[in-house]
Amino acid sequence: MRAVIQHGIHDVRVGEWPPPSPSAGEVLIRVRSVTICASDVHVFAEGNVGGVSWDEPFVPGHEASGIVEDSNGTDLPIGTPVVLDPAASCGACDMCERGLYHLCRNLRFLDLPPVHGAMRELVAWPADRTFAIPNAVELVEAPLIEPLCIGVHALELASRPEGAAVLVAGCGAIGLFTLQLAKVRGAATVIATDLIPERLAVARDIGADVTIDVSEADPVEAVAEQTGGRGVDIAFESAGPPEALEQCLGAVRPAGEVIVIGIPSEDEYRVRASELRRRELTLRFVRRQNENYAEAIGLVRDGRVRLGPLLTHRFPMERAQEAFELAERKGEGAIRIAVLP
Ligand SMILES: [Zn+2]
Ligand SMILES: [Zn+2]
Repeated sequence: MRAVIQHGIHDVRVGEWPPPSPSAGEVLIRVRSVTICASDVHVFAEGNVGGVSWDEPFVPGHEASGIVEDSNGTDLPIGTPVVLDPAASCGACDMCERGLYHLCRNLRFLDLPPVHGAMRELVAWPADRTFAIPNAVELVEAPLIEPLCIGVHALELASRPEGAAVLVAGCGAIGLFTLQLAKVRGAATVIATDLIPERLAVARDIGADVTIDVSEADPVEAVAEQTGGRGVDIAFESAGPPEALEQCLGAVRPAGEVIVIGIPSEDEYRVRASELRRRELTLRFVRRQNENYAEAIGLVRDGRVRLGPLLTHRFPMERAQEAFELAERKGEGAIRIAVLP
């Protein structure tokens, strides 16, 4: 079987990899599409994500779709088009008992040590973490349901999106999903920021009321202007760099909420205590998603959230190096890039 293998920083190549044999409760999936997540780009460019790294060649990729090749005694029929939830919780620890499966103490995650990722011809994965997708959802776009789930979860953490003025700082895929979902949840105004004009154009296309190019305007001032000096009720940080968090903290109203989704390269933030305290701000962090697949799939099936505009490029597996380089460069209007095994 062939796989995309990362050998080191800035070095991914196609090579031979042992085919998986599914354990009890797992299905065998023929992988059709894997999209490159910002976390994969951190590992490609920096060798780790938030301090987690591999010390051996590994297969990247956790946003994946495919076709069930072997049901292995589970109730997922052969031939079912599916999307994977890359997080498999133990179901037995104190966090799982509380329903916080995404914070499971024994979580297995597709593409983090010791579990190799999905950028290969075949993968074995628990049937209960493998979701059938409706025919209306294109298999190549289906991996985007994973980052969509993160947006669904981020919105879940916001106390009251209905009628709110919302800032989405950073128009990568998760930011663009968060923007669409804020609209679905009834936000009155959604302001989106980014540095890349093509991303801001997509943001407008999928529903942003206002876009701000942070290379041209100070986003805190621009948000104040747009909100009559009040500030937004909720800001979602979906860019990564610490400046984006500062901008979110500056852009929310007193008693506003900042919900942090992005991953900073340096793994560190500095925040001004007085700014948080005097305005009694709420700062919340998003850890991926928690059981949001059924809802996310429904939103796509019903046409309430669009995946298509976010999948900008497709590469065969042999050109994975090029795909990762483009994802790192964020060039050519790239948002999410699919690698097709
Ligand atoms: Zn991801
Ligand atoms: Zn657990």
